Amino acid sequence: MAASYKPKFWRPGTEAPGTALNEERNNKKDDSTAVIYNPYISMSIQQQRQRLPVFKHRNHILYLLETHQTIVIVGETGCGKSTQIPQYLAEAGWTDSGYVVGVTQPRRVAAITVAQRVAEERGAVLGHEVGYSIRFDDCTDKDATRIKFLTDGYLVREMMEDPLLSKYSVIMLDEAHERTLYTDIAIGLLKKILKKRKDLRVIVASATLDAEAFQNFFNDNDTKDKSKDTAVILTVEGRTFPVDIFYTESPVPNYLRSTVETIIKIHKSNEEGDILAFLTGQDEVDQALQMVIDYARSNKNEKLMKMKALPMYGTLPADEQMKVFERTPPGTRKIVLATNIAETSITVNGIGYVIDSGFVKMRAYDANTGMEGLVIVPVSQASANQRSGRAGRNRSGKTYRLYTEADFDKLSQMTVPEMQRANLSSVILQLKSLGIDNVLRFTFPSPPSSKAMIRGLELLYALGGIDDSAKLTQPLGVRMAEFPLDPMFAKMLLVSGDFGCSEEILTITAMLQVQNIFFTPRNQKIQAEKMKRRFSVMEGDHLTLLNVYEAFQKYGKNSRWCHEHYLNYKGLVRASSIRKQLEKLLKKFKIKLVSSEGDADVICRCIVAGFFANAARLHATGSYRTIRDDKELDIHPTSVMYAEKWPKYVVFYEVLQTNKDYMRDVTEIDPTWLYELAPHYYQYGTENEIAAKRAKVGD
Ligand code: ADP
Ligand code: MG
Repeated sequence: MAASYKPKFWRPGTEAPGTALNEERNNKKDDSTAVIYNPYISMSIQQQRQRLPVFKHRNHILYLLETHQTIVIVGETGCGKSTQIPQYLAEAGWTDSGYVVGVTQPRRVAAITVAQRVAEERGAVLGHEVGYSIRFDDCTDKDATRIKFLTDGYLVREMMEDPLLSKYSVIMLDEAHERTLYTDIAIGLLKKILKKRKDLRVIVASATLDAEAFQNFFNDNDTKDKSKDTAVILTVEGRTFPVDIFYTESPVPNYLRSTVETIIKIHKSNEEGDILAFLTGQDEVDQALQMVIDYARSNKNEKLMKMKALPMYGTLPADEQMKVFERTPPGTRKIVLATNIAETSITVNGIGYVIDSGFVKMRAYDANTGMEGLVIVPVSQASANQRSGRAGRNRSGKTYRLYTEADFDKLSQMTVPEMQRANLSSVILQLKSLGIDNVLRFTFPSPPSSKAMIRGLELLYALGGIDDSAKLTQPLGVRMAEFPLDPMFAKMLLVSGDFGCSEEILTITAMLQVQNIFFTPRNQKIQAEKMKRRFSVMEGDHLTLLNVYEAFQKYGKNSRWCHEHYLNYKGLVRASSIRKQLEKLLKKFKIKLVSSEGDADVICRCIVAGFFANAARLHATGSYRTIRDDKELDIHPTSVMYAEKWPKYVVFYEVLQTNKDYMRDVTEIDPTWLYELAPHYYQYGTENEIAAKRAKVGD
C-alpha cells in the first residue's frame, strides 16, 4: 500500500520525476517481481495465473470455505481476487450439480471485463461457462453458465425472484469496500439467507482495511466464543508489480490543467507506458480530452510516440467504453481520461502511469432538506490507493497524485458508504418488495440515519408506492419496485398511460438517462448555441429534449445530421435503445402507449406526478427555493431556461453542486398541480402558502 513506497515530490509542470530511467526501481532488490516492462507476453496463461499472489492461498481459501460460511478476503489490488478465486471454486467442485458461483461487481464495465478475462483464461466463449448479467444486458446461458459476474444491483433484483438464491453455491461480493448502496443491501440480505441456507458460502473481497467490520457483521455478536465464528478473515500478501507514488510539492491550483500538463510531461519523457488519468465527470473528461488532442495536433514531433486519447465515463455507450481496453499499435501511447468508473476492478493493459486529480463526483443527500445532489469532493485514501493500483496490473508503474503528501494524510480513510449519503426511497422500495416490512429494523452494515429513512418513506407514500401501514401498494408500489429506475421515474412512467402521454414520457425518461445531448466545441460556442435554440421551447428542458429526440427520429437517426446540429449522435442512439427497453416494461405492465398529440400541459403535469418533490419557486432574491424546505437553488447555465425570463415555479430532474447548487433539466409548472398531484407531500396548507409566496414574489 502507499506507505510501503517511498514518496518523491515534484511539481507539475516541471519534469516528471523518475522518468529518466528509474535507478530507484532497479535498486529495489526486495521486490523480486519488479520489472521494467510486461514479462507476461512470453508466459502461458497458466504460468501467469500461478504467479499471482493469491495462488499461494488457493488451498487455504478452499479449506476455509469448507469450515466457515463466510470469508472476508483482503488483498491488494492486482493480487488476483476477482479473476482467480471464482476459478478455484469451479475447479474445487463448487459449480458441480448445476450450481453457480456468483461474483458481484459495483460497476457494469467491471462485470463485463472481468467476465471476459476469466472466459479467456479458461478458453471459453463468453456467455457459456463464464458469463455476466447487468441491467439491460444478460450474457449468460441458463444451463451452461457456472461462473457468473453480475452487478450488485442485479443480484438484489435476482433475490426478488429467488429469495434464497437457490441456484448459487457461493456468492462473492467483490470490491465490497466501495460500499455501494447495493453492496450494502446485498450484505444485509445475505446475512439473513445464510441463516436459512447452511450450504451457501459468502466471500467478501475487499482491497482495504474494513475486514473486521465485515467479519463482525456476519458473526453473531452475542457470542464471544471464537470457535463459533461463522466468518473468518484471510489476508493475501503481495502484489504483482510495484507502483511508485509521487506527490506534488505544493497544492495545485487547477487539477484539470495540471492533469493535462502532467500527461504532456510524461509523454515528452518518451518512456513507454500508457496513461490513465482520473477526473470527476464527463465535462472534465471531455475538456481534458480536447486539450490533449489540441496539443497533439499542434505539436507534432517525429521523435515522440503518437498519442491516442480516449474518454471513459459511465454514460458512454458500452462499445465506446470497451475501446479503452483495446491495444494500441506499437509506437502509440494510449491516454485514458476517466471518471472513478475506472477506479476498481478493471485492468487496462499497458497502463504505466496513473494521474490522480484527487477529486471525485459523488452523490450526497441532505436528510434535512430531502435534497440529493452530486458534489465534487476530495477522494478517500482508499480510493486514491485503488487509483494507484490501476498502474501495477501487468507492468510496474508510477502514480502522480496532484496533491501533497500532507493533504493525502488528511483525507478520510474510507469513502462514506453510499447508504449514508443517498436518498433511500429506492432502497426501501426494494427491501419491501423482498418482504422486509420493517425497514427501520433491517440490519444494515452501516445503518443510515432514521431521518433519512423517514424521508424516504414519506416520499414513497406521497408517490403512492406504499400505503398507510407502509405496505407496498398494488399494483403501483409493486411495479415501481420492479422498475430498474428511481421511484420518481417509475411513478412518472407508470401513470403516463392514464395521463395520455406515455410516448412522450418514455422519450423524456430515456433522454434523461443520457447526459450531454448537446455538445459545444470550444471555438463554435455561438453556432452551437444557435442550433440549440432551434430545439428549445419555453416550457423547459424536458420538452426540449423531446424535440431533439423526435427530430433525430424524423431525420433518419443520422450521424451527419447530428453533427451539423451539435448533437451527440452516440448519446441519441443510446437513448433510443433505453427507450425500447422501457417500452417493453410498460407493455408488460399493460400501460397504454399513447401520445398527447402536442399538448404540452399534459406532459408537464405527468412530470410533476413523478417529480413533485423537486419543485422550486423563484424567490425575491433572484434565486430559487425548494417549495417544501426552502433550500436555495439556481438554474444551471446549460438549461434552456437560463437565458430566458425565469419562471415562477419549476420542477427539476437533479441538483448539481459546484460553487452553487444548480438545478439541471428544469421545466415550468403551474403550482396548483403540486397540490392536486401530491396532496400528501404538500399538505400543510401549501395551497395558501403558495398563494402567499406568489404575492411575495410580486405575482
Ligand atoms: P484483483 O481483483 O485482486 O485486483 P484481478 O483478479 O482482477 O486482481 O487481476 C489479477 C491480475 O490478472 C492483474 O494484475 C493482471 O495482471 C491480470 N489481468 C486481469 N485482467 C486482465 C486483463 N483483462 N488483461 C490482462 N491481464 C489481466
Ligand atoms: Mg478485483
